[in-house]
Amino acid sequence: KTPVPSDIEVSQQIVKEVGLLDIPTLAKEAGIQDDELYPWGISKAKVSLAIKDRLKDSPDGNYVVVTGINPTPLGEGKSTTTIGLAQALGATLGKKCFACIRQPSQGPTFGIKGGAAGGGYAQVVPMEEFNLHLTGDIHAVTAANNLLAAAIDTRLFHEDSQSDEALFRRLCPNNKDFSAVMKRRLVKLGIDPNKKPNELTDGEKSKFARLDFDKNTITWQRVLDTCDRHLRKVQVGVGPKETIKPRGTEPGTPRVQHDRATGFDITVASEVMAVLALATDLADLREKLGAMVVGYSKSGMPITADDLGCGGALTVLMKDALMPTLMQTVERTPVLVHAGPFANIATGNSSIVADEIALKLVGEDGFVVSEAGFGADIGMEKFFNIKCRYSGLKPKCAVIVATVRALKMHGGGPAVSAGKPLASEYVDENTDLVEMGVANLVKHIENAKKFGVNVVVAINKFKTDTDAEIEIVRKASIEAGAYDAVMSNHWAEGGAGAANLAIAVQKACETNDAANFKFLYDVEKSIKEKVETISKEIYGADGVDFSDLAEQQIAQYEKAGFGNLPICIAKTQYSFSCDASAKGVPTGHRITVREIRSCAGAGFLYPICGDIMTIPGLPTRPGFYDVDINVETGEVLGLF
Ligand code: ADP
Repeated sequence: KTPVPSDIEVSQQIVKEVGLLDIPTLAKEAGIQDDELYPWGISKAKVSLAIKDRLKDSPDGNYVVVTGINPTPLGEGKSTTTIGLAQALGATLGKKCFACIRQPSQGPTFGIKGGAAGGGYAQVVPMEEFNLHLTGDIHAVTAANNLLAAAIDTRLFHEDSQSDEALFRRLCPNNKDFSAVMKRRLVKLGIDPNKKPNELTDGEKSKFARLDFDKNTITWQRVLDTCDRHLRKVQVGVGPKETIKPRGTEPGTPRVQHDRATGFDITVASEVMAVLALATDLADLREKLGAMVVGYSKSGMPITADDLGCGGALTVLMKDALMPTLMQTVERTPVLVHAGPFANIATGNSSIVADEIALKLVGEDGFVVSEAGFGADIGMEKFFNIKCRYSGLKPKCAVIVATVRALKMHGGGPAVSAGKPLASEYVDENTDLVEMGVANLVKHIENAKKFGVNVVVAINKFKTDTDAEIEIVRKASIEAGAYDAVMSNHWAEGGAGAANLAIAVQKACETNDAANFKFLYDVEKSIKEKVETISKEIYGADGVDFSDLAEQQIAQYEKAGFGNLPICIAKTQYSFSCDASAKGVPTGHRITVREIRSCAGAGFLYPICGDIMTIPGLPTRPGFYDVDINVETGEVLGLF
């Protein structure tokens, strides 16, 4: 239809007027067997990881990552392009194809961003199911994360008020056998796990029972999938029952409140979410969840979820979430939706297992189009250096999405303000601004080429773009070494509008050998060297400054054996630098590392550069003002 209706109207129109392919048929056509499918309502299903075993000897398809220039408030349309490209490769060119995308957080959906199912005639449908709850994976992450948070505070409370002997007696009442989870801690402490509790020496009992937290090192926070600024800093344990008589104090000593300053993160910024994205099977999920470090003991030992006896329970809570969710596009292309780590503060990519399953299902001639969050400086860099390192999968092609209007902003176009019409610079032809702004795209092309992939630039067409403006972007891309640069009109026309993009991507894959793929750094290099390599090579920085705290943490991580983990830099997505307002290609800047957190379970270190929020707030007019329900039909209204 022209003009193209709103995203939710397109989704509902397709569902009503064209109809979805029923999920068992969609699955069957994609090569998924009945016993590998767990239907979830009528428009989605979970897919069992058993497929990985069944198809382990089949060849993988062509692996394509979709990324973008540094985001601007004008939008680039990465998800829309991911879906449009998959539709074009599938329905238009007749190739076997899957799109793999993240599940969006409800925080931004009800905040300022809206949904993330794509847009226009390049969307996952039904978009309201995609955007809200889906199959509950994010809720499972919240539950697991918060069980561990409760375990920490409960343990602090009990350790503060009980002797080692009392703690041990309560952990192993009546000489009850050590559970499998407890045995992990015994092994870590070098104690024979086959002993009965009473066979431990007093010293071993104390060592086992007391985690002896250094409270200042506890980094684990609670999480919620809501933008809620008032939870950033909270005090827990202020109820009258959370008062204790500290262990070893004289009789009559007043009881003290067991309170602790902590805070909330948004669920998608949590390590549990990163684990879900990076786990390769159930056994790996179990190991990663159990190995998550929540803080350190007074003697400097990392304390893990397994030390708290929690790793098994966390895995049980997460076992269904480990299965990707099958949905479809408006053109019935299969889509796997799975995991949703934020890109600025976490790994920003959908799951390894979804990509693995999709690559097997499409086979050698097929394509998997997987989206990396935010700009290529963070989402794509983490896709290559973290996700592909753990999966062993080798992408052949990176599609970098750019829009003329966003490039104009990188070229010095005026800021946009909410509620005001777009400035004429963005609506009328302005080749000067495009000429200047295209530098941002050029730097991303050069960066992507460092990984040995072919680069195709997708110019996501807005109706205000002129031929002259598009030609500037095309020419600059080719000059920068892109394999091709193609205007694409999938938002308005669906897969047919992205046919040229799909052909370019197909050729880019045919002419590149997956063996050319390479990482930017060797994980065995020091933590500082790795951060410096990313900062200089990808962000174009002159160098890196580490705070005293970061220096101390680096020493602590190297001592704890985490020095050889890949790096997941948390920084603004709006700029190559740490300054969100520095558009285009900033030069002469330095990266400042304020602190470095560890995600030892998920498997990366996470330097915090600049002011990064781990739970967003809501604006004056959040997206939820537009959301309602038609009580006659049950139809959701106003999601965008
Ligand atoms: P990103 O993944 O980069 O955040 P999305 O693909 O989610 O961006 O798109 C953001 C919004 O912009 C969606 O509502 C989508 O419908 C809209 N959009 C994307 N491409 C176009 C286009 N070419 N013309 C008009 N609107 C578009």
